[in-house]
Amino acid sequence: MKPVSSTNRPGFPLSMSVPAGQQITTKSIAASAQNIRTAPSKQTENLPYRAVQGISAGMGLDSLAVRARMVQKLTAQGLQDPRVKAAMSQIERHRFVDSALVNQAYEDTSLPIGLGQTISKPNVVARMLELLVKSVPGKLGRVLEIGTGCGYQAALLAQLATEVYSIERLRGLHDKARANLRPMRVANLHLLFGDGMLGYARGAPYSAIIAAAGGDALPQAWLDQLAVGGTLVAPVQGAGGTQALVVVEKTSRGLTKTLLEAVHFVPLKSGIG
Ligand code: SAH
Repeated sequence: MKPVSSTNRPGFPLSMSVPAGQQITTKSIAASAQNIRTAPSKQTENLPYRAVQGISAGMGLDSLAVRARMVQKLTAQGLQDPRVKAAMSQIERHRFVDSALVNQAYEDTSLPIGLGQTISKPNVVARMLELLVKSVPGKLGRVLEIGTGCGYQAALLAQLATEVYSIERLRGLHDKARANLRPMRVANLHLLFGDGMLGYARGAPYSAIIAAAGGDALPQAWLDQLAVGGTLVAPVQGAGGTQALVVVEKTSRGLTKTLLEAVHFVPLKSGIG
């Protein structure tokens, strides 16, 4: 078993920086969630997506409005949880995609992040996060994410949980996520380079486990490392070769698995690359 490397982590742990004049506090998150519900301002309505074009290095208030609009659309598609809405309003997705794709960052589309991998579309991210937090009032405890990719979902998770461990098997993406997240100074997010199929025993047990890549079956390590009372959300390959979301809940009496809608995630692969 190859240990998850925790060496070579300059500037670690990361912590989150916010635009000047803003602090990320429970209060401001609640406030921004409220804004989304109650204030779809004229300004938001009139803001063209073009407003984000070419402004990758700090888009200020405009991007707040753009994200509010994204969250409004997600709400229209069924997103309900205020915690997920607040996180998705807060985290700037455009900072996680290549500059050439910045103008698509707030559209409901998956985007390439390099090395043949993709960042999921916001709708799928929202759906999975909502499934993850559903049975927990308040914050999740320790969370394990398999497939850091560009780090976007990891940043969202860091808002929803007290501690997040995110593993990536491709060095290039692990480094990219680290670079994307560094300016945000996310103190409760731990980026790890390694094979996520083995989970990360040192952080276990986890109150939630989420995978952004789908295999034929759920690795036993994930089930073992899930806490009693915890929830796992992952794509898995079904009998007919189609991938579907699965939710696993661990109770003192065993595991409950629920198969949900079809999804299209990149494959879960073993080893590192
Ligand atoms: N949540 C990510 C999505 C990344 S795509 C984001 O917000 O960008 C899924 C990622 O899972 C890919 O980067 C892929 O390399 C990674 N992956 C696949 N199998 C893995 C494994 N066994 N361990 C860790 N990461 C894995």
